[in-house]
Amino acid sequence: MISVESALHIVQKNIQSTQIREKKTVSEAAGCVLFDDIISPINMPPFRQSAMDGYALSLDNNKTYTVIGEVKAGDNYQPKLNIGEAVRIFTGAPVPNTSNAIIMQERTTVQNQLLTIDGEVLVNENIRPLGEQVKKDEIALKKGTLLTSAAIAFLASLGITEVMVYKKPTIAIVVTGNELAEAGQSLNYGQIYESNSLMLVTSLKHLGYQKVSTYKVSDNYKNTLSVLGKVISNHDVIIVSGGISVGDYDFVGKALQELKVEQLFYKVKQKPGKPLFFGKNRDTTVFALPGNPAAALSCFYMYVYPALQKISGQVNFSLPKIMVKSKSNYTKKGERAQFLKAVYANEMVEVLDGQNSSMLRTFALANALVFLPETAVSIKTNDYVEVNLLPIN
Ligand code: AMP
Ligand code: MG
Repeated sequence: MISVESALHIVQKNIQSTQIREKKTVSEAAGCVLFDDIISPINMPPFRQSAMDGYALSLDNNKTYTVIGEVKAGDNYQPKLNIGEAVRIFTGAPVPNTSNAIIMQERTTVQNQLLTIDGEVLVNENIRPLGEQVKKDEIALKKGTLLTSAAIAFLASLGITEVMVYKKPTIAIVVTGNELAEAGQSLNYGQIYESNSLMLVTSLKHLGYQKVSTYKVSDNYKNTLSVLGKVISNHDVIIVSGGISVGDYDFVGKALQELKVEQLFYKVKQKPGKPLFFGKNRDTTVFALPGNPAAALSCFYMYVYPALQKISGQVNFSLPKIMVKSKSNYTKKGERAQFLKAVYANEMVEVLDGQNSSMLRTFALANALVFLPETAVSIKTNDYVEVNLLPIN
């Protein structure tokens, strides 16, 4: 059994960013990472643009100007202003070349085409210069940028429709367990509803992993071997749920061994998630998570998530980690390190009741995992603790 720190290190050491790129439409690239620098095809803004509703002036020393016309957003012409003249203008409209300042309408009064202004107006006031955000042929976004909604919108604002991104891995989820029934069916005595596949698929989809297939196997060696054999040959990452413990009907470990998946670690000194397995078979990465839902999700966030993010080209691939004060007291049982379901709010963290590894209900309320190292004994109110912030998904 190895420590959490060693296990995390082994995952990082054995996972590299893919060198395979793929072309995506900008609208489908959310959550992907740019494989190349993006060179701007245009100036942004593409013309001198008004930042206000007001009047475009050809500045004069006087406080009064003659209004000679109007330019609104989308207008495709330029009135010519002489010194001392103004045009009515609106936010986003092109500023005539002969205007050198915009005054906001709140500082003006107009009577019979005569505009009177209040106070000083500076040269270039309220004018967004041509190419203020980015100039044509400059780098708009660098290789390695994560495509958030803001990044996607910025690319769209430059008229870009396609980008090269790090190829996202193809993922197979393999769910084991004879006791599992599908939601919608009636439950026989001894059955529970299967929830891990939906949990993992939902999380993956929110993170931008679209190519996810789910397989179900019974607690039977032949079935486990045949399904795992098939998925390993045609997916980049396999996430197994359950069947990796030491029970008589846990066949995942034996099947992975038979399939020549090299074990990089099995069993981590942590709670929940002790029977976590990590291994490789050529280019395929295999994580086998314990079946208990809260344990599976903790292991997913702490180990699988950073691996997937690193494969996909992300530089900041682990969950964000902060040190904050605890609102709660907590006493650790046993020697293993712990990941505690918690709520982070207002710069404090509250450890939730109900830390059992089967308790999805607690996880449903959590937005963070507090890490208690092996050496820790307890947490007291106002102690600083290490918090891993979960993605909101
Ligand atoms: P295992 O790791 O296979 O020994 O399973 C541990 C516990 O998690 C058992 O109580 C299982 O019934 C439960 N479990 C396993 N897989 C799932 C699943 N896909 N959905 C919900 N519960 C599960
Ligand atoms: Mg099982």
